[in-house]
Amino acid sequence: MKERSVNDMKKIAVLGSTGSIGTQTLEIVRERAGEFEVVALAAGSSIDLLEQQVAEFLPRLVSLTKEEDARELKRRLSLKGIYSTEVVYGMDGLIACATEGSADMTVNAVVGMIGILPTIAAVKAGKDIALANKETLVTAGHIIMPLVEEYKVKLLPVDSEHSAVFQCLQGAGEQTVEKLLLTASGGPFRGKKREELGSITVEQALKHPNWAMGRKITIDSSTLVNKGLEVMEAGWLFSLSPEQIEVVVQPKSIIHSMIQFTDGAVLAQLGTPDMKLPIQYAMTYPDRVSLGGKRLDFFELQKIEFYKPDTDTFRALALAYDAFRAGGSLPTVYNAANEMAVALFLDRKIGYLKITELIEQAMNAHKIIANPTLEEVLSAEKETYDYIRENVR
Ligand code: NDP
Ligand code: MG
Repeated sequence: MKERSVNDMKKIAVLGSTGSIGTQTLEIVRERAGEFEVVALAAGSSIDLLEQQVAEFLPRLVSLTKEEDARELKRRLSLKGIYSTEVVYGMDGLIACATEGSADMTVNAVVGMIGILPTIAAVKAGKDIALANKETLVTAGHIIMPLVEEYKVKLLPVDSEHSAVFQCLQGAGEQTVEKLLLTASGGPFRGKKREELGSITVEQALKHPNWAMGRKITIDSSTLVNKGLEVMEAGWLFSLSPEQIEVVVQPKSIIHSMIQFTDGAVLAQLGTPDMKLPIQYAMTYPDRVSLGGKRLDFFELQKIEFYKPDTDTFRALALAYDAFRAGGSLPTVYNAANEMAVALFLDRKIGYLKITELIEQAMNAHKIIANPTLEEVLSAEKETYDYIRENVR
């Protein structure tokens, strides 16, 4: 085997290192010892876990949201004799991590629109991006995709469906995609009708049948907002129109998505539900490297079932298509309304069905700005938060 020197190691910055995707990213770094060097880590407020991660990976830079948390982490690191890691905070800190001078790749695994500015900064700093943070492309895809071209960086999808598409597209020529068949598990409430969803509790909504993920995306998966966001994310990543993306419910999450080509061929990527595969593929692309874990057993599986999504019950998916078709600032309103509504639901301030109702109300109340600037995207976000604050008592 070829020996790697320190200079061959791919240097990565991980934003959202304490979350579900972030911790799995670091597991891959650990498993592939000698291939990656972690140069920056950023989190929100999970000081304890971040402290452990710093002690293990010794990054040059680390960031937390609040100044007092950063001060506390610095104090703890000095007690451990770790002085080589600089501790920063806030949006400036997150951006500093995203653009850390020596990083080759920035893994963006923060949750929510907070990911926009660090992504833009990282692209402009010439970093390749492994993107889990779908909210960023949904709201600012029209700004980020041209920058990716301009700065000639790679934008590698981490979301399992988008990674599946990306894998199926390897070696395909230009203009060969007819349609994307985006698979969906249907979430824990598949088969239920609207009347049955009114009494859903936080605990019930946090149980996903196939994937263990962060809290926000787990709720989004149950309302099908996650699939709605993924439709828009796929639109930006693969230059597809809403008409070219069809959601196919496939409850076991075995087929991670499929591409129908212009010659009628359909390619799919299958595998057990394990986010480490798409994360690792983004990290090692264009190489495909080994990964442990359970393999698919087709005899055990026996059959794969397909259904049309029930968009009468799960209106959030239909609303996502509306936002996608209208474009401009409407996807931002869809996303921001959902971010706030999910936070309110998790805080037990609103009922389950209210999440989708608030998205629809906020969309109806918004005057669409075509091709919004970054400032206009961020002000549409703020306007939506204000609207929801005024409408939830
Ligand atoms: P988690 O909630 O598990 O993790 C979110 C991470 O972001 C945490 O490290 C959190 O830090 C950090 N964070 C939150 N707010 C801030 C902030 N203001 N500044 C800096 N860091 C912050 O989410 P997931 O890992 O599940 O999801 C991350 C993204 O990946 C989402 O966009 C999601 O849609 C997407 N995704 C996730 C999948 C999954 O399997 N989990 C699958 C496909 C996509 P702290 O711990 O301190 O709060
Ligand atoms: Mg997904």
